Amino acid sequence: MATTQVHSTITNEHTGFELPTYHPVIITIDGPAGTGKSTVARQLAQRLGLDFLDTGAMYRAAAAIMIDRKIDNDEVGELVSCVLGADLHFDWSQDPPTILAWDIPIDHRIRDDDVTKHVSFVATIPELRHHMVRKQRVIGAQHPRLVTEGRDQGSVVFPDAAVKFYLDADPEVRARRRIEQLDLNGKVSLEEMCDRIIKRDKIDSTRSDGPLVCPDDAIRIDTSNIDLVGVINLLEEKTRERVSTLIEDE
Ligand code: C5P
Repeated sequence: MATTQVHSTITNEHTGFELPTYHPVIITIDGPAGTGKSTVARQLAQRLGLDFLDTGAMYRAAAAIMIDRKIDNDEVGELVSCVLGADLHFDWSQDPPTILAWDIPIDHRIRDDDVTKHVSFVATIPELRHHMVRKQRVIGAQHPRLVTEGRDQGSVVFPDAAVKFYLDADPEVRARRRIEQLDLNGKVSLEEMCDRIIKRDKIDSTRSDGPLVCPDDAIRIDTSNIDLVGVINLLEEKTRERVSTLIEDE
C-alpha cells in the first residue's frame, strides 16, 4: 500500500515561520568584531520568532569578574573557580535576555572599555572555554529554536546546527561601525579603533582552543558594502530556504 509522507511542522503564530516539530533549529552566526553580528542575530531571531543567545556576553562577564575581583592574568585557577561560582546565566524573560552573575544582572558592566580590552585574553583560557561551551550546549538543549552568535558557535559548540553563517567585513569598515555603535566619535580615532580590532581578531583567531574560523559548511557573507537591513534580509532568506529543505528531508 502506498503511504503518503506527512511532514510534521509547527508554524510560529507571530512570524509565520514554519519549523520542523521534532528537529532542533539552531542558527549560528560567527565572525570577527564589528561585523554587526549581535544586531543581526537579534533581529533575525525576532523576525523568525526564535530565541537569541549572545555568547560574547558570557566571556565579557568573565572578564568583568576578573577585573572587579582583582584577579591577575596568571591566576587562571582562581578566575575559573570564581566564574564557575558565579553561575552565569540569562534571564530569558527579557528581550534581549540579560546576563546575571551570582544572580545579579551585569549587563551594565560588560560593554565597558576595560572589559573589552581584557576579554580576548580571558577567552583564550581553555578551562574557561570548556565551561562556556558546556553551558551553551545546555542552553541549546533548553532553547532548541535558537539564533546564537559568537566566534565558535558553528565550528565547536553546535557543529550540527541547521544553518551556519559567517559574517566578515573590512577592518576599517568594522572600526567605523564600532565607533558609531559605542558613540566614540571624536574620542577614539579610526586608526586606533582599527588597531584594537585587528589585535582582538588576532588573539581570537590564533588561540589553540575554539579559534575564530569560518566553518566549511557556513554561508560566508562579506557585509562591507551591505547595510544592516540588507544583511538581515539575506540571512532571513537563506534561513527560510535551508529550514524548508530540512522539513522536506524530515
Ligand atoms: O562578540 P563580542 O565582541 O561581545 O565578544 C567579545 C569577545 O569574547 C571576543 O572578542 C572573543 O574574544 C570572545 N568570544 C569568544 N567566543 C565566543 C564569543 C565571544 O571567544 N563564542
